[in-house]
Amino acid sequence: MSAQLIDGKKVAARVRDEVAEAVAQMKEKHNYTPGLATVLVGEDPASATYVRSKQRMCERLGIHSVGHTLSADATQEEVETLVAKLNADPNINGILVQLPLPKHLDEEAVLNTIDLEKDVDGFHPVNIGRLAMKGRDPLFIPCTPAGCMELLADAGVEINGAEAVIVGRSNIVGLPMAMLLQKANATVTICHSRTKDLTEHLKRADIVVAAIGWAEMIKGDMLKPGVAVIDVGINRVDDDTRERGYKLVGDVEFDSAAEVAGAITPVPGGVGPMTIAMLMKNTLRAAEIALAK
Ligand code: NDP
Repeated sequence: MSAQLIDGKKVAARVRDEVAEAVAQMKEKHNYTPGLATVLVGEDPASATYVRSKQRMCERLGIHSVGHTLSADATQEEVETLVAKLNADPNINGILVQLPLPKHLDEEAVLNTIDLEKDVDGFHPVNIGRLAMKGRDPLFIPCTPAGCMELLADAGVEINGAEAVIVGRSNIVGLPMAMLLQKANATVTICHSRTKDLTEHLKRADIVVAAIGWAEMIKGDMLKPGVAVIDVGINRVDDDTRERGYKLVGDVEFDSAAEVAGAITPVPGGVGPMTIAMLMKNTLRAAEIALAK
């Protein structure tokens, strides 16, 4: 392997330490503790695990966390009433509605209900709109793309003037990532399932962000030498040599890509740890906004 390994665990630990320190100072100076409320609707095991790990991280960093769980058949009104209650709660600075919501619920309407100043996931349409517009800044940047930017900065990757190719255009990763990179003066191409010749685009990229959800789809021979690769994908593939019967891989074939790339994130241990760290940072920011009022 010739590429520099971009160590998400290390960068996430640094972000968490900074948040913990700022939280401690906020308590000392202002007698104020940031608070995060999580809203889980239904019993999807993966969502429940994500919510638990977010709550545990709050505890570790000194952030007050309150979990709300509604049944899988909760009505739109019940969910929105809970969000409205949390909007009005002065002890809660951030509201995280765990997605995806059950299919009968209107996700957009729920996200619209969240107070802009408590939108720590950064998914409120106004925050996304500000991210897209020139000269405007969102209050919060979605956590996974924000984590990718932090990794690029830590690895010393030059974004200004770079050719960046994002593979994937989801609302939570691909699209905000593209907006962040263009705001940082990259020339951005967004590829997706209808892109005719993915390799042609990838071959000119100085920065590749893969957010597809397809195990090891991007191979080393599709990349330009020296490229910085941020692999957001988390995919389970069967692995009989492991007790649990599977391993986690990214959307990029790590071994072949690491031979060509200048820098690359591993999976696991790359983007994954950054997402929760950036959520903690956003919650701290929400508390700072509340304190400033
Ligand atoms: P989505 O399924 O919402 O989006 C996938 C995107 O990939 C779509 O835009 C889709 O295109 C595109 N795509 C699918 N097939 C191809 C193809 N053959 N060529 C090019 N593009 C293709 O996924 P998410 O954005 O939510 O997640 C992407 C990955 O990132 C997943 O593995 C997920 O687990 C992981 N993830 C990791 C996080 C972390 O913290 N590390 C956080 C969030 C997600 P189209 O729009 O045309 O359908």
